[in-house]
Amino acid sequence: MKDSSFQSAVDISVVVPCYNEEVALPSFYREITRIFNQLEENQRDITEEILFVDDGSVDSTALVIKNLSQKDRRVHYIIFSRNFGKEAALLAGLQKAKGSYVVTMDADLQDPPGLIPYMLEAVRSGEFDCAGTQRITRKGEPLVRSFFARRFYRIMARFTDIEVVDGARDFRLMSRLYVDAVLSFRERGRFSKGIFPWIGFKTKWFEYENIQRTAGETKWSFWKLFLYSLDGIIAFSSKPLAIASVCGIFLFGLSIACIIVIIIQKFLFNASVEGWASTACIMLFCSGIQLFTTGILGQYLAKTYTEVKQRPHYVVREERL
Ligand code: UDP
Ligand code: MG
Repeated sequence: MKDSSFQSAVDISVVVPCYNEEVALPSFYREITRIFNQLEENQRDITEEILFVDDGSVDSTALVIKNLSQKDRRVHYIIFSRNFGKEAALLAGLQKAKGSYVVTMDADLQDPPGLIPYMLEAVRSGEFDCAGTQRITRKGEPLVRSFFARRFYRIMARFTDIEVVDGARDFRLMSRLYVDAVLSFRERGRFSKGIFPWIGFKTKWFEYENIQRTAGETKWSFWKLFLYSLDGIIAFSSKPLAIASVCGIFLFGLSIACIIVIIIQKFLFNASVEGWASTACIMLFCSGIQLFTTGILGQYLAKTYTEVKQRPHYVVREERL
């Protein structure tokens, strides 16, 4: 890990995770260099770098990036040996970025690069350590996805002590101190949306309306998002583990109540208890709950297993830094 005494070779690094973005990259590059020119107009000696992280794309993303880097010395890249996921790509970018300020953003121009000068100003003033961005609308997104996204933020708020900001994007500008704090998280199951609020510091929020992708398509299916949100809950909360105990106590209470009812029926009204159907239902209900809670336990065990193995977060095939 780089420490805070680390002497930055560049002022601002822009880290861009890319997975099958060959069509989006040319317009992204055009836009970001336009912003660089704008920054240079204000401060002539400012130095920038773009660090593309190719997350095992199967199209010609790597080739496009290499061509850009031959043309422009500010363009650097890391190419993974396969697809390791956006979290791994972000981590690699943050680890290898050289800037005193580091921006992370998507390649599809859903994160407006025009905000960067304002974000830089906020963090440079020293008042904030990070500038974050937040979507205030979910226009153009499928309704079911928006609904579950909202539920997810509710559950996170209830289950964890950290405040995951609704609609917060991965588009951020961070100071070196902030980046080092993010990098001090050594865990494999990385969930950035939780790491940022966990480390604290002061964040200035910039809001904007949802912008549709310029080209290409989203890499997130509903199922992938669902699993990702489960990862987040497990990474930052152990409350689901308590579900087993709560269910146990509840069922214990229920069984006592049933026993009392049966005794009263037997001795006061001399009624016999009948029916195998009710017994079968009770058995199904209890074994269902047992399997459900064992499943939760299994999730935590599986996560612990991956953490203990200490495998690398990613494997690099080629890089130019
Ligand atoms: N991405 C990545 N690895 C993946 C999936 C996505 O590096 O396995 C990148 C992708 O190229 C893009 C960013 O992460 O730059 C966000 O992905 P996407 O636009 O598909 O997500 P959305 O904006 O729809 O949430
Ligand atoms: Mg996107």
